[in-house]
Amino acid sequence: MEPKNHGSHVIVLPYPSQGHINPLLQFAKHLASKGVKATLATTHYTVKSICARNIAVEPISDGFDDGGFTQARTEDVYLKSLRDNGSRSLSQLIEKYEDSKFPINCVVYDSFFPWALDVAKTHGIYGAPFFTNSASVCSIFCRVHHGVVRLPMKEEELPLMMPAMPPMNLVDLPSFVQAPESYPAYLAMQLTQYPNLDKADWVFGNSFEELEGQVVTNVWELWPGKLIGPMIPSAYLDQRIKDDKGYGASLWKPLSSECAKWLETKSSQSVIYVSFGSMVSLTEEQMEEMAWGLKGSNLDFIWVVRESEITKLPSEFIDLTTKGKGLIVTWCNQLEMLAHEAIGCFVTHCGWNSTLEGLGLGVPMVGVPKWADQLTNAKFIEEIWGIGVRAKEDEKGVLRREELMGCLKEVMEGERSVEIRKNACKWKELAKEAISEGGSSDKSIDEFVEHLKCGNEKGVVKKLTDENDHC
Ligand code: UDP
Repeated sequence: MEPKNHGSHVIVLPYPSQGHINPLLQFAKHLASKGVKATLATTHYTVKSICARNIAVEPISDGFDDGGFTQARTEDVYLKSLRDNGSRSLSQLIEKYEDSKFPINCVVYDSFFPWALDVAKTHGIYGAPFFTNSASVCSIFCRVHHGVVRLPMKEEELPLMMPAMPPMNLVDLPSFVQAPESYPAYLAMQLTQYPNLDKADWVFGNSFEELEGQVVTNVWELWPGKLIGPMIPSAYLDQRIKDDKGYGASLWKPLSSECAKWLETKSSQSVIYVSFGSMVSLTEEQMEEMAWGLKGSNLDFIWVVRESEITKLPSEFIDLTTKGKGLIVTWCNQLEMLAHEAIGCFVTHCGWNSTLEGLGLGVPMVGVPKWADQLTNAKFIEEIWGIGVRAKEDEKGVLRREELMGCLKEVMEGERSVEIRKNACKWKELAKEAISEGGSSDKSIDEFVEHLKCGNEKGVVKKLTDENDHC
């Protein structure tokens, strides 16, 4: 039986990329499963890629309705246009529902869109940012924003020591912190997440208490994140949301049946699944090293190489994959891959969703981080959670074939493999517990839903974090 709607209606607004739509859409599904009407608002260019049970979808404009980011060409132009057009169309969307049966009473927005809070407040409704990075990464950027960590960092300030975090060397820090001049627009976007947080009614983080609770406690004054993750389709964790086998958003067509058919012929935990997510673009040299490293390992593999990357592969290598040792696909359903019993290791760029998916499904990992928060996630995968190893790059920033082969051997059969598998099983269970009924994340979502309900019953919007705000 579907839960009864209690009159709350939440707009969920992700940044329009795969790694942001997935967790926010999943959060919308959790709200819907608890009786809140949830509508995902996303750009015209991405709206047709969304299809999720019980979630309405509405378009908003980023000013580039035919081609999205690619049409804008530069980050600066895109982000400014998104802010201007997005604010306007979000406001129109809220107005559209004002006299309907389900007026909107809250906007849960991607923390990359601090302007969405202004729009929510103009309409007198709740506003809550959703952070898609790990809590540890949020806590680092938050400290940079507050001047606790100053950029550029000096030699003598390293390793960076922060409460509840391991000592962080330069290679462990997000690339925008390592080299602030490298991507100024992205660094600026990271830092715009924090200035108006004190005006937000609720702050959400896609992580869970057991994984990063200590980190949050220690940065609470600056970043009061409520951990509600991992935001992974229910079929892979608690199975409480009916038929929830995928995120319900795919910006590219997944080749699911090809992968499943190929995997059927492989034995348990024998195959390496390789993916660099939706954004990383490798150099030709790096692609070649990856290719020959995989071949040299003599293990079977599935490698997701996006259409735009395919030409970088050596042609002799493509011939080899037709001989059954490997399968190259332009996109797949990653969760189906990770959940398949034939997969024994995940070679990942350590994007936060991929990290949570590997962890939540208990798959040992080889981290090959390239930029942004991936470097920090890789550190935690190896050193803190012990669920994989981090492959080292040479002085040119290239992961060499021998190193990849060594890491694969270590995770599949090396000295540390038993311990890694044990840890992977432990974290899989803890992730499941957190989101299951009565788990830490489930309780946080329930609290939020209760507050929405209270606000509605009283017919007023009150500050959710107000200590006196009890129903
Ligand atoms: N993904 C997928 N199919 C693929 C590769 C990736 O469905 O072939 C999904 C993956 O499950 C994850 C998202 O794309 O949810 C990538 O997010 P992540 O944060 O890992 O990396 P990003 O793409 O943002 O760098």
